[in-house]
Amino acid sequence: MFAKRTCQVFVFTMSNYLLAPSMIASDFTRLAEEISACESAGADWLHMDVMDGHFVPTITIGPLFVEACKRASKLPLDVHLMISEPEKYIEAFAKAGAGNITVHVETCSDLPRIVRQIQSLGCKAGITLNPATPASALDSALSLADLVLVMSVNPGYSGQTFMPEMIAKVEEIRNKLNALRSPAHLEVDGGINAETLPLMKKAGATAFVTGNAAFKHPKGTGEGVRLLKKIASS
Ligand code: ZN
Repeated sequence: MFAKRTCQVFVFTMSNYLLAPSMIASDFTRLAEEISACESAGADWLHMDVMDGHFVPTITIGPLFVEACKRASKLPLDVHLMISEPEKYIEAFAKAGAGNITVHVETCSDLPRIVRQIQSLGCKAGITLNPATPASALDSALSLADLVLVMSVNPGYSGQTFMPEMIAKVEEIRNKLNALRSPAHLEVDGGINAETLPLMKKAGATAFVTGNAAFKHPKGTGEGVRLLKKIASS
């Protein structure tokens, strides 16, 4: 017989690791099926890589695609704006159903003002930076942000190779967030797969964007998401 416990021990564990499949790697001809496979396999957010052909060379998706995903899913939509002058389009993405809206510091002359603009529309505000931009570029808005995203490839294309030097940047931002006692998620985006995810988790990341590792898994999207979610949660 077990002795009755006379006191409770509270242990803080960071069990809240999130997986965010990037929908531009999905098969658009089967969008609803792909979303359903992500949901069933335990995805937490659906990541939307919005590119404008100006800030980055490629053009991908816009508010109409986000709105279609919103109708097909109950998961929060994690919208990553790789676009010039994001302040002009934030409202359109909020209306389309974005849960998180993340902007690049390279596109914002006043990052704290844009963070507040996003939050005033009822969305969580994310801030991010290119691999070549130092972590200190985010300092002005770090205490305000709900989410910080570290790009582990140069933005603009899906399917690029992970840059291992970004592990130190994740560690640096994790230390800054801890010093601020910030509850913000620290997300990583670019080349995240079964090998690189644990490295970023160890460095302090709590949310993981994944593209081809989920959607091009040989056993299908559901299996790809399930595997990465298991690795993220373990
Ligand atoms: Zn992204």
